[in-house]
Amino acid sequence: MIKEPIKVKELSAQERVNGFAEVVSGYSEQEALAESSRCLQCKNPACISGCPVNINIKKFIFQVTKQDYAGAYFTIRKTNNFPSICGRVCPAEYQCRKGCVLNKSKLAYCSPEAINIHFLERFVGDYGMRNNLEVEIERAGEPPESKVAVVGSGPAGLCCAGELVRKGIKAVVFEGLQSCGGVLRYGIPGFRLPRQVLDYEISCLIRSGVEFRTNTIVGKTIFLDDLFQQGFVKIFLGLGAGVPSFLGIKGENFCNVYSANEFLTRVNLMSAYKFPEYHTPVNIGKHVLVIGGGNTAMDAARCALRLQKTSGVKPDVKIIYRRTLAEMPARRLEIEHAQQEGIEFKFLTQPKEFRSDSGGFVQELACLDCELKEADESGRRKAVAKDGSDFNMPCDLAIIAVGLQANQVLTNVVPDLKTDKYKDIVINSQTMETSIKNVFAGGDIVGGEGTVIEAMGMAKKAALSILQNS
Ligand code: FAD
Ligand code: SF4
Repeated sequence: MIKEPIKVKELSAQERVNGFAEVVSGYSEQEALAESSRCLQCKNPACISGCPVNINIKKFIFQVTKQDYAGAYFTIRKTNNFPSICGRVCPAEYQCRKGCVLNKSKLAYCSPEAINIHFLERFVGDYGMRNNLEVEIERAGEPPESKVAVVGSGPAGLCCAGELVRKGIKAVVFEGLQSCGGVLRYGIPGFRLPRQVLDYEISCLIRSGVEFRTNTIVGKTIFLDDLFQQGFVKIFLGLGAGVPSFLGIKGENFCNVYSANEFLTRVNLMSAYKFPEYHTPVNIGKHVLVIGGGNTAMDAARCALRLQKTSGVKPDVKIIYRRTLAEMPARRLEIEHAQQEGIEFKFLTQPKEFRSDSGGFVQELACLDCELKEADESGRRKAVAKDGSDFNMPCDLAIIAVGLQANQVLTNVVPDLKTDKYKDIVINSQTMETSIKNVFAGGDIVGGEGTVIEAMGMAKKAALSILQNS
């Protein structure tokens, strides 16, 4: 008899919108045991090939069934440096769970029957964190003379530094912002990824010998040549895709029209949600429109809703998306949570123009209805606006979350660093080396906006190349 999937406990929608507490509680031991017992221990486990870092999923789940949680932790850690982070943010329904033999869906994402691999990973990762198992991971002896510079402290940079230090190489991470973590810190809100989890992983890296230099923008305050002159033998670039795309419509410069990046940075990094403890409020108003259908749009909309506590206004938050629910690229869990929290989805809608009041503050968004046509080169059905279908929506705050582009602060000042038409860094896909000898790159700065685990996968590959001849 096929057993029912084990659901995780979550805060009620009412509890969630009053603050930034973590929404999903994770499995208890009993729940983890019950869920792991559903795994069929397949002879050819397709779940593993669906994972960008090929975690031995079958093995770690088996170890969970035997209550060997430490063993499961070390199995995951062989290929994934941050299980507690990935167990919380990985879009598993598009990756490992999609390949699970119990998946019944033919869509791009899996059905609920697939093993909840991510929740089991989180259970194991949190067990490891509680028991500080990370200290038991074997490391090479004293660091040799050679040191490597890592630029950017997002998942790519953190993972690369972790891999290097484990093999006895001194790694120094240079980060432009005041805190480390990249999108994990300034983008993904604490109700999805509590700061203690990220801080723990960074503290483990520091304990292992990784050095962090924040408030240092490579390409402005220090240059690649300076790093080589300071004795760094190799450099890894994990610069991310931190530049927001815009709609290119009239009125995008009006007051209270934000890019999702700016909005989320104000909320998460600058702690707008802790006003008045932090003097950095974001005024949200009554009508909030978020434009886009990815994780960034979900995070922005859910953060805006939660600002009701600090702004004193209960906002009416709508997500505007050109296609339909089926095409939305966001994690399915995030979409579900947003809907439960009362965020309204306005599908098949294309923004046309922002309008303002006499003071230049946004007041209204003019829109058009869309219809879906045949699939475009990306494989997604094309949304085409219908002539004469104009309508207006009231808008006190607009957040544009329609994609991100390469961070070009560094690449703009290093002409020898080859980039493609999207301004992403071009690499040798075997070695992850860039057009400059001994300079490597990985994460979103290579190939555009991806996922946390994909960024880590590239960073591991680069670290392996860096280790050769270091
Ligand atoms: P980043 O995380 O962008 O980190 C790059 C770092 O480099 C930044 O800290 C930046 O300040 C620093 N930097 C850049 N240039 C310089 C310089 N010149 N000098 C010094 N420092 C520099 N993925 C998932 O898997 N699951 C999710 O749920 C998910 N949700 C997301 C939500 C949001 C709001 C966003 C924006 C993205 C989300 N993603 C998610 C995507 C994921 O976060 C990224 O794919 C991942 O963070 C990329 O990692 P990275 O290390 O390449 O870059
Ligand atoms: Fe278990 Fe699914 Fe992987 Fe099979 S495919 S080993 S059932 S997680």
